Amino acid sequence: MHIENDSYQDIRDAIRDLCSQFPADYFRRIDEERGYPEQFVDALTRAGWLAALIPQEYGGSGLGLTEASVVMEEINRCGGNSGACHGQMYNMGTLLRHGSDEQKNRYLPRIASGDLRLQSMGVTEPTTGTDTTSIKTTAQRNGDRYVINGQKVWISRVQHSDLMILLARTTPLAEVGRKSEGMSIFLVDLHEAIGHGMTVQPIRNMVNHETNELFFDNLEIPAENLIGEEGKGFRYILDGLNAERALIAAECIGDGYWFVDKVTEYTKQRVVFGRPIGQNQGVQFPIARAFVNIEAASLMRYKACERFDARQPCGAQANMAKLLAADASWEAANACLQFHGGFGFAAEYDVERKFRETRLYQVAPISTNLILSYVAEHILEFPRSF
Ligand SMILES: Cc1cc2nc3c(=O)[nH]c(=O)nc-3n(C[C@H](O)[C@H](O)[C@H](O)COP(=O)(O)OP(=O)(O)OC[C@H]3O[C@@H](n4cnc5c(N)ncnc54)[C@H](O)[C@@H]3O)c2cc1C
Repeated sequence: MHIENDSYQDIRDAIRDLCSQFPADYFRRIDEERGYPEQFVDALTRAGWLAALIPQEYGGSGLGLTEASVVMEEINRCGGNSGACHGQMYNMGTLLRHGSDEQKNRYLPRIASGDLRLQSMGVTEPTTGTDTTSIKTTAQRNGDRYVINGQKVWISRVQHSDLMILLARTTPLAEVGRKSEGMSIFLVDLHEAIGHGMTVQPIRNMVNHETNELFFDNLEIPAENLIGEEGKGFRYILDGLNAERALIAAECIGDGYWFVDKVTEYTKQRVVFGRPIGQNQGVQFPIARAFVNIEAASLMRYKACERFDARQPCGAQANMAKLLAADASWEAANACLQFHGGFGFAAEYDVERKFRETRLYQVAPISTNLILSYVAEHILEFPRSF
């Protein structure tokens, strides 16, 4: 038996109970069909879990990031994939922190109730990648509208969302003092935008992650959809990233436990050369090492979340938690696939699906290299390399 994580047991039990209605074959079928787990996301929404971080005054449950992270961890630990809906948890933070009272009153209660989904955030562009301040999508003010032109790539859940937060340049790069200035964020009503200046091109990908290329050709959006002050959008996006990193760390931790549980059970049963393969230390040690690393990553996740909830700076901890957790889940995934032998490749064991799903987090939403670069530059004070 593994050490059972005894913190936040009520939340863990509630999520496990909900997830038990969506067993492995549900997620396997969705993966095979390249579908979207609509019923699962609906059930999570109706139970109020996706509104965990929305304050009670706007109809949410006003929980902390720590509790929210446990929700995401448990979904992935149960064999599901929070990636289908995790944007709903953290995207609203941008609106909450930087939106006007009018915007918050208008949108947050309906996001909390599930009437509106704010699942998407459009930042990444094909020609600039991680170098976000070089984005080329522009928003030009024209009376009471902004006119958007440009392109985004890898923008997730657009086909299952009502709203999207969009980052665009409102002042050309050449005219700003610092390259992080002159970008703004907007709330885009996807139903109004699609077909009226915005085109969505789904990207078929390795993980059945609903993600898309977006094209903007004179898309007009009301000026009132600007969030916060014009020109400060990049800072607003950065403000939200720590929550995103910590929640995704938690998902990786959930994945890691799922792999360890699965491979431990399997290797205790699978008999080769007349004994369970799990009797060999060559099999035990990689699994034990992955388990140790998941436990350690989980501590860093709690540290990041506690600092976030206490409104203390947590950039270092959130980034380190994401790196440790993504590495630990990937290590566990490899051990799990390896010790299932050929069966690891069979879809009905779910290992190959979870293997693909957890691999994403070495690259998105921030690559491992960029986290190391952050630690080197901002914590160890090495000179900036790019
Ligand atoms: C399934 C999926 C869903 C996504 N969802 C969203 C979304 O909803 N919204 C959104 O805005 N974006 C989304 N993304 C984009 C994601 O955030 C980016 O893919 C990620 O940030 C990496 O950017 P890139 O792909 O442009 O890689 P690049 O910037 O081209 O980098 C490629 C690789 O080069 C390396 N590298 C780059 N620069 C450096 C450096 N200076 N030093 C060392 N190594 C470096 C890194 O290893 C990196 O992985 C998603 C991506 C995927 C795959």
